[in-house]
Amino acid sequence: MDTQSDPASESTPSTEKQWVLARHLFEELKAIGLEDVTMDENGYIMATLPSNLNKDVPVIGFISHYDTSPDFTATGVKPRIVKNYKGEDIVLNNEKNIVLSPDYFEDLLLYKGQDLIVTDGTTLLGADDKAGVAEIVTAMEYLIAHPEIKHGKVRIGFTPDEEIGRGAHRFDVDIFGAEWAYTMDGSQIGELEFENFNAASAKITARGKSVHPGYAKNKMVNAIGIITDLASRLPREEVPEKTSGREGFFHVHHLKGTIENASMELIIRDHDREKFEERKQFLNLLVQEFNQRHPQAVDLELKDQYYNMREKVEPVYHIVEIAKEAMEQVGIEPIIKPIRGGTDGSQLSYKGLPCPNIFAGGHNFHGKYEYVPIQSMEKAVEVIVKICELTAEKS
Ligand SMILES: [Zn+2]
Repeated sequence: MDTQSDPASESTPSTEKQWVLARHLFEELKAIGLEDVTMDENGYIMATLPSNLNKDVPVIGFISHYDTSPDFTATGVKPRIVKNYKGEDIVLNNEKNIVLSPDYFEDLLLYKGQDLIVTDGTTLLGADDKAGVAEIVTAMEYLIAHPEIKHGKVRIGFTPDEEIGRGAHRFDVDIFGAEWAYTMDGSQIGELEFENFNAASAKITARGKSVHPGYAKNKMVNAIGIITDLASRLPREEVPEKTSGREGFFHVHHLKGTIENASMELIIRDHDREKFEERKQFLNLLVQEFNQRHPQAVDLELKDQYYNMREKVEPVYHIVEIAKEAMEQVGIEPIIKPIRGGTDGSQLSYKGLPCPNIFAGGHNFHGKYEYVPIQSMEKAVEVIVKICELTAEKS
């Protein structure tokens, strides 16, 4: 089902087609026997797996998003299973000569002998994050079918519009009512994340004065020149293509202009809150400097987008440890690393629901090379089940 979200839309969900899957999901959750299944007017779906214990166990939650990225089409997805993958090139589309190759995507070699779900090369797959949806539903079905596995109350939540940064916006943390939760929205098997970027967006606008170029001396102010000068003053080594790990950056992603009016849009990212504030300050000072040269010519609009969830998760670090232990117990080596991006979990953490992120299993999100190994999805289901079990055991 095509559930692509649309940043240009004001509604929630941002696209009508997301409702199609949402309604199915809503019905399915009731059909498998979950309780308190609700879907609100914004397409947020929640449900409860009641506790099967007589003692107090913290209520925990699992969350994923059912929209897919606006970056690539999701119309007419034709998934195919490549069984018992041997490490060879996978021809996704013969006609268009689209090949998923381990020469370029080395991660493929991690999955020799496994079964991969791939695209036909013309759409994304949507494993981001419908793999997460499938895993959570399957884990709940499993727990319902296996009452001998003891667990507390479990809440699950599915959101629209994560890919356009609005997945958490209308998520009612109070109604959800969990002490903590996990988003099942990471990539490779084993990923466990509780650090993400601090993020801001900036738009710098310059106003110029257009004068006939032949008579322009000391009169013309070229807004394009101001903006490109500004852009050239950003640190050249601190860009996405030259940074990794916990290194932050400035990323200019849009630039347009005429002599009279030019603007550039950029994003600022840093895991470290102090450095993040310094980056914003750097922009402020830069714009001030340009305004001294060209009075009132340059405007800066800065907007914080989200913050590093680490600040909110560290005080309750046992929630990371439970997930880590769950992985180890089902034979997965946890890969704990900072996310170079954001997740719904970061916003939810700041809304009072600490929310680390766990792998959903897919790779190459937001494009035609997206794939997910079935065995990784199965392991994700086991991790969810195990987290429920461990949370009960430990309380
Ligand atoms: Zn996602």
